[in-house]
Amino acid sequence: MALVLGLESSCDDTAAALVGSDRAILAHALAGQNEAHRPFGGVVPEIAARAHVEILPELIRRVLSEAGKTIGEVDAVAATAGPGLIGGVMVALLAGKGLALATGRPLIAVNHLEGHALSPRLVDPELEFPYLLLLVSGGHCQLLEVRRVGEYRRLATTIDDAAGEAFDKAAKLLGLPYPGGPAIETLAAQGDPHAVPLPRPLAGSGEPHFSFAGLKSAVQRAAASGEHRPADIAASFQQAILDCLVDRTKLALERTNARTLVVAGGVAANARVRAALERLAIDEGRSFAVPPAWLCTDNAAMIAWAGAERFERGLTDPLDAPARARWPLDAQAEKVRGAGVKA
Ligand code: AMP
Ligand code: MG
Repeated sequence: MALVLGLESSCDDTAAALVGSDRAILAHALAGQNEAHRPFGGVVPEIAARAHVEILPELIRRVLSEAGKTIGEVDAVAATAGPGLIGGVMVALLAGKGLALATGRPLIAVNHLEGHALSPRLVDPELEFPYLLLLVSGGHCQLLEVRRVGEYRRLATTIDDAAGEAFDKAAKLLGLPYPGGPAIETLAAQGDPHAVPLPRPLAGSGEPHFSFAGLKSAVQRAAASGEHRPADIAASFQQAILDCLVDRTKLALERTNARTLVVAGGVAANARVRAALERLAIDEGRSFAVPPAWLCTDNAAMIAWAGAERFERGLTDPLDAPARARWPLDAQAEKVRGAGVKA
C-alpha cells in the first residue's frame, strides 16, 4: 500500500489529503474562499493565490496529524500542476516540490482534470473502463471518455463559459449571492421553468460541445425587461442549462460504448441536473454514478488518488515540472472554434 499526500490550489479551494493506494481516505481538509470572493461575484485570482499561500501549510499539518502520520511516512507527493489560475496552481505545486525535495519521495504533477476523471474510482472499485465523464464545474464543462489511467478522449468542451460559471453569472444578474448555483437552485424551486423563453445554445448541433454565453445574455435581457418574476427567470434558466447538458451528453453517449455515465463538478450538486442526467443514462441503457458531493467539487483526495494511480504505474515527475494555466487532458482533441480560454 502506497500512502500519497495530495495538494490542491488551482482555483478558490485550498486542500490537502492523505489517501492510500488501497482507496483508504486517511484524512482530507479543505478551506474554501467564498466569503473573500463574494463582494466581486466571482473568483479574483490574486486574492485566491494569496489565500492559498496562507492556508495550505496548516491544512498539510492537519491531515498528517489527523491520520497519525509523519511526512516521512508518505510514499509520494501529488500536487495539482494545472490547469487553473496560474498564481494558485503555483502554490500547491511548489509546496509539493518542497516536500518531495525534503523527503526524497517522488513528486507527481497531477492534471486537475485527471483528478476529477479518476475520482469515481476512489469510491467505486467496480467501476469499469471506459466510462463517460461529464465534468460540470465553475471552471470546466467537458465530456471525457475515460479509457484507462492516462488515456482520455475529449468528446466535447465549452466554446465559452463553463456551466457553473453560467450559474454564477446568471445569479449576479438576478442580484443573488456568489456562488450562484445553490442560490439559483433555491429560487428556481418557486418558479415556473417554462415561463421565460430562453435559448438552448448549440442544442441539436452535430458535435456535443457546449455554449452558455448566449443564455447569459438572454437572462440579462429578461431581467432588464422587468416583465418576469426573478423566480421564473431562475427556473427557466436552470431548465435551459439542464436541457443543454442532457442534449449534449446524449449525443456523446451515442458516440461511446462506455457503460456508465459519471457526473462530477460543483453543478452535479444540483438535484434537478442530477435527476435529468440519471434519466438520460437509464433511457440510453447505461448505468449512472455521481461521486459524493465533497468529492465532486474541488478537493485534494482526488489529487492524491490520481497520484496513487500514477505512482502505482511508475508515472512520477521531475522537480522541474511546470505549472500550467492550460493543460488539456486529451492532447489530440481538436481545437474548438471560440474555445479560447478553457483547458
Ligand atoms: P467547482 O468548480 O467544482 O468547485 O464547483 C463550483 C461551481 O458549481 C460554482 O460555479 C457553483 O455555482 C456551482 N454549483 C454549486 N452548487 C450548485 C447547484 N446546486 N446548482 C448549480 N450549480 C451549482
Ligand atoms: Mg475542479
